[in-house]
Amino acid sequence: MLRSERQEMLRTIEMETRMTQGFTGVAALRPEVMEAMASVPRQEFVPAHLRHHAYANSPLPIGNGQTISQPFIVALMTDLLCSEPNDVMLEVGGGCGYQAAVLSLLVSKIYSIEIIPSLARATTHRLQKLGYHNVEVRQGDGYHGCPEHAPFDGIIVTAAVSFVPRPLQEQLRPGGRLVLPVGSPHSVQELMVLEKKKDNSIVSRNVLSVAFVPLTGGHENSGPGRAS
Ligand code: SAH
Repeated sequence: MLRSERQEMLRTIEMETRMTQGFTGVAALRPEVMEAMASVPRQEFVPAHLRHHAYANSPLPIGNGQTISQPFIVALMTDLLCSEPNDVMLEVGGGCGYQAAVLSLLVSKIYSIEIIPSLARATTHRLQKLGYHNVEVRQGDGYHGCPEHAPFDGIIVTAAVSFVPRPLQEQLRPGGRLVLPVGSPHSVQELMVLEKKKDNSIVSRNVLSVAFVPLTGGHENSGPGRAS
């Protein structure tokens, strides 16, 4: 039953990828991204009473006022990171760990920062139990990134920011990509891809309108200014 629901979710992701191609420039997601989406048991990441909705192409509440992201957006953001197998990645906004689990199948190591202590604890336990041993969940404010393990080959932020956090930009390796929702934290944001070139210059593009829960942590007024 769950297997066929997961197949249906993959078909929906393929369809939505084609439908949004005009905005994203992505006609089809890389096969390895689709394989990772096919492999991760999303029902293990949602509350028990929502398991029958686990493969719907929609976000779901996971408690603490937080959500598990929509499968299509998880797949698209994973694709946009353009990961390589030896990459070390940073995720800001670990939540239930679903995005990190998907990404963990494509890279060698992920540090995933989650600000809510109970969520960080539960997610550590869940990922260990399910065998995603290359994800290290850390509790803290991901605005500051993870300087002790920087630079990263890619950084993904799964909570809305009103500007690109400078520490994250700085912790990106030349050639690396930062994928994040930038805009009004309480309504709609633009999914952005920033690429750091070999000369450390940044090239960015807007991909798609999205709606993420806000990045919290009280740094919103201390930023370097809005992304344009
Ligand atoms: N990546 C998740 C979705 C996470 S929802 C998935 O796979 O489904 C966004 C998460 O970001 C929430 O769990 C929220 O608690 C967390 N968050 C918000 N502000 C944060 C911050 N400053 N640092 C780290 N995590 C933060």
